[in-house]
Amino acid sequence: ALAQRLRRAQPGPLDSGTLVYAVASGKGGVGKSSVAANLAVALARQGKRVGLLDADVWGYSVPQLFGVRRSPVAVKGLMLPIEAYGVRLMSVGFLVGDGEPVVWRGPMLHKALEQFLSDVHWGELDVLLLDLPPGTGDVTLSLLELVPRAALLAVTTPQPTAQTVASRVGRMARDMGMPVAGIVENMSTVVCGDCGTPSALFGTGGGRRLADELGTELLSGIPLDPALRQACDDGVPVVAGAPQTPSALALSALATRL
Ligand code: ADP
Repeated sequence: ALAQRLRRAQPGPLDSGTLVYAVASGKGGVGKSSVAANLAVALARQGKRVGLLDADVWGYSVPQLFGVRRSPVAVKGLMLPIEAYGVRLMSVGFLVGDGEPVVWRGPMLHKALEQFLSDVHWGELDVLLLDLPPGTGDVTLSLLELVPRAALLAVTTPQPTAQTVASRVGRMARDMGMPVAGIVENMSTVVCGDCGTPSALFGTGGGRRLADELGTELLSGIPLDPALRQACDDGVPVVAGAPQTPSALALSALATRL
């Protein structure tokens, strides 16, 4: 039902059947990229044709999260996305040397993002996920101008401060007339390694309050899970490498709601 509603709300230049979600957060470190990457893999495992555009140009992490070091090849002037775990990937990280910082200024970044949309042979996609930089800066605005039909998927932690900064992203979306697909609360609980009891390390309610404030749904609560952290470090998305772990199950369930 959500997909149907968004499809109607998303007329635009990309193939009109493609659902576009902009995965955003108020600040860094809340797990936005981990959510975007694993959601992409979970959707692909459901049989969807999925693209993931890493627009977190300074803090790009898609190469690390997918364990990919290759550079994309170009065919007839179009770059081919790199495919891993069934997802078509594009990232600034594929274009700069290993560990090199991106020192481009605004206009170059805008151009690069434009090219990621127009000069990459995405092929037919059911879903395109955009991993946005944290906050409401230039790159976020540029990209949302380039893809006005994207629906916002806001990632926050349960902490009140995280929720407050995330709400700025929500207000930006509203000001730009973007549909809001929902809220993902990451690091919702932590499960004690000894006794298995879940506890609310980062407090409770941030995701719910943000959803209420933006008049949208809290789609998922993803637990703090050592398996997810390990998978990120190993370069294997947790939903592929350890699909029965608590975080992987939550991320797969989230994919069924989009
Ligand atoms: P962001 O994109 O918001 O900056 P990342 O996705 O890069 O955040 O996550 C930051 C760090 O936190 C990474 O090392 C990641 O592995 C870890 N992390 C994110 N979510 C979880 C989780 N639910 N459980 C355990 N570790 C997590």
